[in-house]
Amino acid sequence: METQNDTLSSVETGTDPRQVWEECLAKIRHDVSTLSFKTWFQPIIPIRVTGTELTVEVPSQFFYDWVEEHYNALMKKTITSVLGDEAKLYYSIAREESLVAPLEPGRADEPLRNARQVARAPFSPHAPLRADNLPIIQSNLNPRYTFDNFIKGDSNQLARAAGMAVANNPGGTSFNPLVIYGGTGLGKTHLMHALGNHALVAGKAKRAAYVSSEKFTVDFVEAIQADKVNEFSLFYRSMDLLIVDDIQFFAGKEKTQDNFFHTFNALYQVGKQIVLSSDVPPKELRGLDERLISRFQCGLTADIQAPDLETRIAILRKKSEENSLDLPQDVIEFIAANVTSNIRELEGCLISLLARASLESREIGVDLAKDVLRVVVNEVRSPVTIEQIQRVVCEYFDIPQDLLRAKTRKQEVVTARQVAMYLAKELTNSSLKTIGLHFGGRDHSTVIHAYQAVEDQMKTRAPYKQNIDNIRRRISMTS
Ligand code: ADP
Ligand code: MG
Repeated sequence: METQNDTLSSVETGTDPRQVWEECLAKIRHDVSTLSFKTWFQPIIPIRVTGTELTVEVPSQFFYDWVEEHYNALMKKTITSVLGDEAKLYYSIAREESLVAPLEPGRADEPLRNARQVARAPFSPHAPLRADNLPIIQSNLNPRYTFDNFIKGDSNQLARAAGMAVANNPGGTSFNPLVIYGGTGLGKTHLMHALGNHALVAGKAKRAAYVSSEKFTVDFVEAIQADKVNEFSLFYRSMDLLIVDDIQFFAGKEKTQDNFFHTFNALYQVGKQIVLSSDVPPKELRGLDERLISRFQCGLTADIQAPDLETRIAILRKKSEENSLDLPQDVIEFIAANVTSNIRELEGCLISLLARASLESREIGVDLAKDVLRVVVNEVRSPVTIEQIQRVVCEYFDIPQDLLRAKTRKQEVVTARQVAMYLAKELTNSSLKTIGLHFGGRDHSTVIHAYQAVEDQMKTRAPYKQNIDNIRRRISMTS
């Protein structure tokens, strides 16, 4: 496929893509709901206008599919009215390692059904050399991924701090190589781009490139075929900062590993920075040469774990802010409590939620979130039980559970009992009578009394309310 040349920008044609897209947006705004507009049109970024061709960037494949399926006609009509009958629309998908990946060109009236997402290689065997004989590079870094929009949490603290240190002083810390490992969708790629972007923007590295191990492999094979291995090697060895993602895919590719080994050594010896990611710790990598594995272990290995509840909430908040959406707090908490293992899935839920809300004209609330989660994560946690509430409350106040049913009137037990009763009433559909029975056969009026006592305290004492909120959260996490 043809690589679109980024320098062939609107400067040559004299048309500002932003202006063209603004005109389009002004028209589209009248044709769709505000929510659809915010969800599906505002995130689109105009890239360039060449004659009557407009190229726009969409955030993901899913986004592209959605727009193409639901708004193809509207897009066509709008583009034609702004750029004339000959107008063509091209999409790029910005996503993960692929960056601005030009899709097969298509006309606005020919849906891009076979849109492929193709990463542009930082290395091109045909890249011209600069005056100083170094190949000109595409860093391949995605400006969307920054430290600013990378939420900090216990789960990624070490990796993030190490990434920052390396970005501020590439090659100058003992974190060389920096190896980031962790399960899929936990932020490795994001963090690596953030690191590279920071190093470039802050002027800490002049030459930086991001490449996935698969891309490195494909390019290497092509370089062999084109008899350009020297150029290939020179290209990678000219970096101040080389970032290689998902090195587990080097497994079994011996020739590529061999080339990478030499590249690694060449960079390392002159104090250039290498950053790698993997889905397992280096020593557990299978199918990789021992020499490489031992090299990988001579710097810092930092893991990224699954995010905890607070981090998941913060991420959802950030993502909804980025989409200029005002998601209700209970919806955010509901999603965060139910989608626990993977940040990509968390985002997927958010997108599906928006999609459903705009398609079905439904209000974004917990009910809709439940429907979405049923499809996306295939299960919503089971309803909360009184036993579970009792367990969490007792853990929180650090008292034995059987005291909730006992006759004791010790202050801390009374407090815990009241809180548990209150939450049983709030979070389950049990009757007052049933709740009373779970607390040593107490009367329904005792439950009402407890409920009111807790409500009163919550109104007047902020720290008390904070406790209740914390407990609620823990319950939602364990259900
Ligand atoms: P990985 O490379 O580990 O599979 P990614 O870096 O592709 O994961 O992350 C998946 C998605 O989750 C990306 O859209 C990324 O922006 C987002 N993400 C991951 N970690 C964070 C974080 N700490 N803060 C904000 N967004 C995050
Ligand atoms: Mg990744």
